[in-house]
Amino acid sequence: MELNEDQRTLQEWVHGFAQNVMRPAAHEWDEREETPWPIIEEAAAIGIYGLDFMANAFADKTGLSLVLALEELAWGDAGLCMALLGTSLGVAAIMSNGTPEQQMEWIPQCYGTPEDIKLAAFGVSEPDAGSDVSSLRTRAIYDEVTDEWVLNGTKTWITNGGIANVHVIVASVDPELGSRGQASFVVPEGTKGIRMGQKFKKMGIRASHTAEVVLEDCRVPGRCLLGGKDKLEEKLARVREGKKASGQAAMATFEATRPSVGAQALGIARAAYEYSLDYAKERQQFGRAIIENQGIAFKLADMKMHIDAARLLVWRASWMAATRKPFLNGEGSMSKLYAGETAVKVTEEAIQILGGYGYVRENPVERWHRDSKIYTIFEGTSEIQRLIIARAISGVHIR
Ligand SMILES: Cc1cc2nc3c(=O)[nH]c(=O)nc-3n(C[C@H](O)[C@H](O)[C@H](O)COP(=O)(O)OP(=O)(O)OC[C@H]3O[C@@H](n4cnc5c(N)ncnc54)[C@H](O)[C@@H]3O)c2cc1C
Repeated sequence: MELNEDQRTLQEWVHGFAQNVMRPAAHEWDEREETPWPIIEEAAAIGIYGLDFMANAFADKTGLSLVLALEELAWGDAGLCMALLGTSLGVAAIMSNGTPEQQMEWIPQCYGTPEDIKLAAFGVSEPDAGSDVSSLRTRAIYDEVTDEWVLNGTKTWITNGGIANVHVIVASVDPELGSRGQASFVVPEGTKGIRMGQKFKKMGIRASHTAEVVLEDCRVPGRCLLGGKDKLEEKLARVREGKKASGQAAMATFEATRPSVGAQALGIARAAYEYSLDYAKERQQFGRAIIENQGIAFKLADMKMHIDAARLLVWRASWMAATRKPFLNGEGSMSKLYAGETAVKVTEEAIQILGGYGYVRENPVERWHRDSKIYTIFEGTSEIQRLIIARAISGVHIR
């Protein structure tokens, strides 16, 4: 259960960045609601934003390095953390669906270099297809004459949407086949027919850009279909014959990435717990520190217990993903669900412990509470996580 030296070194290094660069800048970028380029540049300069960072984290066979680093970044600030991580959503899609050649071509273009930083985005969600991704309306039609795919549709809530250099778009190739008739396409920088729609003003993680992406006769070369045309046609043929397709493989990929989302929620919860513990020891009312009241001390005891339990679920799921253990009980979902709900609960309690001081913007706990709420919504809502766990443990197709 102990971290090794490499893991501790990584944790301390990322913590230093979170403490010295992210924390002091967090309030400003929350207020500005803009992509925090100076922070991304600083992260890229020291190697926290970029391909090498992700590759090194994934190289840890225990699976812990990535979640350790993400907990620290979100402890620094969840909005800035998401601004640094948005690109990895697109990268993960290329990693899981692309051929080795496609990975070699596109992934470096997602991050760019410290001198010329690039961003990526991953577009699945649509106005009428959120939790129900089988009902995507964005269409991809193949033009045999030009060997191009033509994309049409609107994506919504997309992190880095419209400002990314590389977009990975999930579209329906055969709508009758639902999620099994879908494929992922890289839309490279400079492609015509892709633009940003509405940019959303949000409750939390406001330093992370979220917008609609509109695709109007957006033509991409045939080689932008992730996995290649032969593999897609084989898959579609299998599905049409009524055989199993790779839908289950996609679910396994989602399960494997969920602990990374849980780790971020954990970082916010820990930040709020530490802050409110210090405050409770200092704040005097009725002639004693407020922590001397059981009503406050028990809150902190529960907060710490839930945080530690969430961390164990996150580490277990991340270790299972790295060591390719099957998620027979929805362990990936458990980690994201529990950590997300813990973050919401713990940050709310932290506000309560600070009283009026917790409700105003001069203290960060109100921001942490606003930031925490997204972790019960994106990357699969809490209800969808419960559905996955319930189906996994019961074998029943619960609706
Ligand atoms: C800040 C932010 C960033 C995002 N980034 C991205 C991104 O980069 N790329 C991307 O593709 N998407 C992104 N999303 C979209 C996100 O993944 C969706 O918002 C999420 O999947 C939920 O979809 P929805 O909002 O349409 O809610 P809906 O699916 O409409 O759900 C509404 C409510 O109904 C519940 N519900 C739905 N179906 C069921 C069911 N079967 N059983 C029980 N309850 C159910 C849900 O849990 C929820 O409570 C982002 C969203 C936000 C807010």
